Amino acid sequence: MDLKLNYIDGKWTEASGGNKREVINPATGEILAYTTESTEEDTRAAIAAAKRSFYKTRDWRDTDGQDRADMLLKIADLMDKYKDELARIDTLDNGKPLRESEGDVSDAIHCFRYYAGLITAPSGHTYEVNSGFGNMHAFTVAEPVGVVGQITPWNYPLLMAVWKLAPAIAAANSVVFKPSSNCPLSTVRLFEIFEEAGMPKGSVNLVLGSGGAVGHTIASSADVDMVTFTGSTKVGQSIMADAVGNLKKIGLELGGKSPNIVFDDCDIDGAVEWAMVGTFFNQGQVCSACARIYVQEGIHEEFVKKLAAKANAMTIGSGLDNPDIGPLVSESQMNKVLGYIEKGKSEGAKLVCGGYRLTDGEYAKGFFVKPTVFDGCTQDMTIVREEIFGPVCSIIPFKTEEEAVAMANDTQYGLAGAVFTNDGAKALRVMKEIRAGILWINCCEPTFNQAPWGGYKMSGIGRELGTYGIEEYQEIKQVSVNLNPGVLGWYEH
Ligand code: NAD
Repeated sequence: MDLKLNYIDGKWTEASGGNKREVINPATGEILAYTTESTEEDTRAAIAAAKRSFYKTRDWRDTDGQDRADMLLKIADLMDKYKDELARIDTLDNGKPLRESEGDVSDAIHCFRYYAGLITAPSGHTYEVNSGFGNMHAFTVAEPVGVVGQITPWNYPLLMAVWKLAPAIAAANSVVFKPSSNCPLSTVRLFEIFEEAGMPKGSVNLVLGSGGAVGHTIASSADVDMVTFTGSTKVGQSIMADAVGNLKKIGLELGGKSPNIVFDDCDIDGAVEWAMVGTFFNQGQVCSACARIYVQEGIHEEFVKKLAAKANAMTIGSGLDNPDIGPLVSESQMNKVLGYIEKGKSEGAKLVCGGYRLTDGEYAKGFFVKPTVFDGCTQDMTIVREEIFGPVCSIIPFKTEEEAVAMANDTQYGLAGAVFTNDGAKALRVMKEIRAGILWINCCEPTFNQAPWGGYKMSGIGRELGTYGIEEYQEIKQVSVNLNPGVLGWYEH
């Protein structure tokens, strides 16, 4: 069976220890492929290649802006050419319904095109300055940070990789990239596309392997100038500690437990439909899932009934058959989610629908969990406080706006939030009060290449996407110009 390799310094190479790891199809439990299992030594080789590329050969760093933009467009065109294959890979590897993978691939292609456009867009500022040294002007120049390490999770394998790679290479950095070992296959295919497009050797390097041998080595290396990470808050904390040695720049996109506040005066059918998206899209394995649903008491009963009916009716199956919901990514993720469901029951939440693994017939070998709705939840319950990362939501009734806002903010996280109401002023009041980086009004979960993405509090540091996304991968140099060269006259004796 296929063995997927590292891509280091423009060559596909096997890891030095000769170890390999299985990649599992979560719909069937079958082995899809093997990946080479890298050591610290392999990771250091990739970092050295990126360092040579950035500081010595400078093939990518010195490529002029128009040519860099053309390269990103070429990568996007190749992704478009292979889009069906890329979508199928993510569905097989991750389990998500095929149409969701197709949406991810489309977003990823547009992300490359968006950053291609930004490369040649005007940037920087000029300043009229006066510091007592005479007539001067200052302006800013954006420069690449240097060697960038990037580490991603498994929930959007291709898209999370592209959110990092497109702006980092647009900004002319050299990259060492580590995908999640759970779902690495679309990233391997993406690096084949980089090779086909002609990215200079050493400018983009792929290392397959564990968080310890590869991720920790990247985050703690003195030769890495910046590390950007998407994943759990716990690992994000260790990345921050690792980065301290050489004070490398960091970007962290971490976990969440986002609130969705549904007021009596909303369009209830619309709110139910969006709550389905906010809870069950991608099997609920979404960092910004709005699965803490606060429903005002006037519509509480009707909302729960309608949501449960829709959740119960969801089709479940292999992602390739395009059901409403596919399997969870792995057996361990499924067991974690089932553990939270048991905890919800034992702590007194009312199970309205779902709450179990599907095991009969076609489901027997896969990791399928029936969409689950809990009602009558309270703030102190584990299922309300912790990120479940599965198809489970917790409904909490409320009376007043103040009460809903207070409960929504009662969390260590601050990634996203949603509010449903037909009262515009109320929507904006709540928007202003919620301590989170993304706020949806009368919708839930959409992401946009053009607008910033990232969290407050323990949901992260920095922003991806939009103009912020490329600025994260740039250093800003302030240049001041003396408009009257000559003797300053400061030291005349
Ligand atoms: P994870 O933190 O377990 O792993 C993420 C990546 O870090 C993987 O590649 C893993 O191998 C690597 N890693 C593990 N230990 C490491 C270490 N000590 N040093 C360096 N790297 C290490 O997360 P996961 O289970 O893959 O993904 C789920 C999490 O990701 C959830 O908490 C979710 O909220 C979060 N997430 C956040 C966003 C966002 O934009 N904020 C997006 C997607 C997922």
